[in-house]
Amino acid sequence: MDSVFAPWRIDWVEREDKNPDTDCVFCAFRDEEADRENRVVARSDHAFVLLNNYPYNPGHVMVIPHAHTGEYGDLDDETLLDHARLKQRTFDALERGMGPDAFNAGLNLGGKAAGGSIDDHLHTHVVPRWEGDTNFMPVVSDTQVIVEAVEDSYDRIHEGFAEQDGTSVPGPDAAVRVEAPPKGL
Ligand SMILES: [Zn+2]
Repeated sequence: MDSVFAPWRIDWVEREDKNPDTDCVFCAFRDEEADRENRVVARSDHAFVLLNNYPYNPGHVMVIPHAHTGEYGDLDDETLLDHARLKQRTFDALERGMGPDAFNAGLNLGGKAAGGSIDDHLHTHVVPRWEGDTNFMPVVSDTQVIVEAVEDSYDRIHEGFAEQDGTSVPGPDAAVRVEAPPKGL
């Protein structure tokens, strides 16, 4: 098995294009309200957290600013801060919900050479890691098992957000609403 750690190559989000007005799946999920169905697990003022449907590891999420841009320099101060704070919240939620030993987190910037497949709407991958873990996908290759694993991860991470101070859940199938800033800041 290939043991090189390269989760950033896995940038695939295969969903039906339910919004023919936009080519961007991240913009579509930003604007739609079917959060559970879309696997949007948390939302802040300027960003949201989406589970990867093709996870490198269980709990693999992306923290995505609302702004449709592939240029990090385009993000304004408010968005940068909000995106970073939501990333803090995401580590916390993953710790609470899935108990990983460590994390990898990063951006693919600059197009195909960086390895991502969606390069016009930037997003930070956050991948939980466990001691001795291997790439989840070669181990779990059955599609139904992957779907169930992603649904299970969704519930765990959702709860991990909902437990945090300064959050609320506006409806049964809604993402956790994260108020900024986190307590203490
Ligand atoms: Zn977009």
